[in-house]
Amino acid sequence: MAKLTLGNLDVRGKRVLVRVDFNVPIEAGPFGRLVVSDDTRIRAALETLRTILEAGGRAILISHLGRPNGVPSARFSLAPVAKQLEALLKFPVKFASDTVGPAATAAVNSNTDVVLLENTRFATGETRNDPGFAARLAAFGDVFVNDAFGTAHRTHASNVGVTHCINRSAAGLLLEREISYLTRVTETPERPFVAILGGAKVSDKIGVIVNLLPKVDSLLIGGAMSYTFLKALGHSVGSSLVEYDRLDEALRLLEVAGGKIHLPEDHVVAGHISNDVDARVCEVIPDGMMGLDIGPLTCAAFKGKVLSARTVVWNGPMGVFELPSFAAGTQAMAEALAMATENDAVTIVGGGDSVAALTRGGYADTVTHVSTGGGAMLTFLEGNVLPGLAALSDQD
Ligand code: ADP
Ligand code: MG
Repeated sequence: MAKLTLGNLDVRGKRVLVRVDFNVPIEAGPFGRLVVSDDTRIRAALETLRTILEAGGRAILISHLGRPNGVPSARFSLAPVAKQLEALLKFPVKFASDTVGPAATAAVNSNTDVVLLENTRFATGETRNDPGFAARLAAFGDVFVNDAFGTAHRTHASNVGVTHCINRSAAGLLLEREISYLTRVTETPERPFVAILGGAKVSDKIGVIVNLLPKVDSLLIGGAMSYTFLKALGHSVGSSLVEYDRLDEALRLLEVAGGKIHLPEDHVVAGHISNDVDARVCEVIPDGMMGLDIGPLTCAAFKGKVLSARTVVWNGPMGVFELPSFAAGTQAMAEALAMATENDAVTIVGGGDSVAALTRGGYADTVTHVSTGGGAMLTFLEGNVLPGLAALSDQD
């Protein structure tokens, strides 16, 4: 990587300010206590933290959680995260009840080796990338490490602003791994390279399609976004979700794709989105019916493409996977990726809902890499710069 990485830093005896991505779901647990309901992102940071501690550094951790919009509240507090981190790290974690105030200063000046400061978004300066707020955060570290891939597409004080106020800024191990997988698949993919796109909206992913089309051998499109393409080709789509203002763009993409884009040839349809409706399979969607999942013929065709691939990137579920009646297509793709991975293909999955589907189905460990960032991965796949990465120091 052209950027400085944790491996390039000498952290012995230093305070390492680490931007982690502890934006995890919090729920009311036993006795109404708030607890972390999915600690995947906390686990993903452990390697970087252990590396810093083993090298004799102290870790001062900063993260946002949710969207408190500059207003502190118990609901968005990182306190439950500190508890979970302590359990996973098996090491004391000192939690500071403010972000840059007296509690933070006392915690940073204490003799604890791991400190977690309160939610950066409790300060209005965070999302505005306010230089004053960034400077106060930066004052807590001798060097800066960014391990928050999930927010790398944002220009905020805790990931970009701080780099202007601190001597050396490096990528943590998680950020480095995310970037190296994404770079490898987009720049030097082993072929065939197959991308699978699905999910709710074409408009969210047009940039990804435009950037990936020249790079891939096949682009499989499922989910709600496939109906905009099918409609553009003149197929009947019933009452499926269609973005009418994107029909021309969809048609243009199909024209330049030269046969690389593969669309569903059959569908699981129902009158409305609910589990207790009569779901049925058809090739032509009748009026008044919605396509809510890819059908068995499409599953087989897409599976065939995935199994012959050497590189697979997947973002976006194939149907309304939240309901069991419309989850088969997404599950079939997860199975196909697992099989491809066993046959040594490189397989990468990203996107909030896609990763939730994978995790819920028990497939999270069956692919090469599960990205911790949805928006950040899409930004990268669009071919755009990630500000959080660009802000880091260059290699010496
Ligand atoms: P990701 O978070 O992985 O990037 P998206 O947010 O783009 O994925 O899309 C996920 C959503 O798309 C899910 O809530 C899913 O129910 C919905 N979806 C997928 N296929 C359909 C469909 N055919 N009709 C309606 N919604 C769909
Ligand atoms: Mg989503």
